[in-house]
Amino acid sequence: MVLPRIGHGYDVHRLEAGTGVTLGGVWIDCPYRVIAHSDGDALIHALCDALLGAIAGGDIGHLFPDTDPSYAGIDSRQLLRQVMLRVDGAGYRVGNVDCTVIAQAPRLAPHVGLMRERLAADLGVAPSDVNVKATTPERLDAFGRMEGLAAHAVALLVAKTP
Ligand code: MG
Repeated sequence: MVLPRIGHGYDVHRLEAGTGVTLGGVWIDCPYRVIAHSDGDALIHALCDALLGAIAGGDIGHLFPDTDPSYAGIDSRQLLRQVMLRVDGAGYRVGNVDCTVIAQAPRLAPHVGLMRERLAADLGVAPSDVNVKATTPERLDAFGRMEGLAAHAVALLVAKTP
């Protein structure tokens, strides 16, 4: 029996005044924007690193360097799909994933359903295999002051042919 494989990812981005952020592939109107080379989707970046971690495939900073102009402003769902090609190439598929966003604002609850649908489409699973949670930092530290937001993700992969 081939053992399942697990990976963890973490990402953080700085925030500044703006008109909205993209998280989990969903645009959210709010008075902030993420400072990033890509679209700054910290949730997807953490998820990519969890998937890469599970196949011992390095990290997205190595795969998609922020010094490469072709990744400027890129939709992070494109990065996620490229990471999934590597998961597939390694002989695995997603069992389930669990993600947590740490942000004082915006409120994510109204957007979680659409995030799960979009992530599930990119991961090749059902929305019931994708969980997205949000927690606030209780106004503590830099995250509580809205200087940034962070995301964690864990991914369980199972072999395509047992
Ligand atoms: Mg990032």
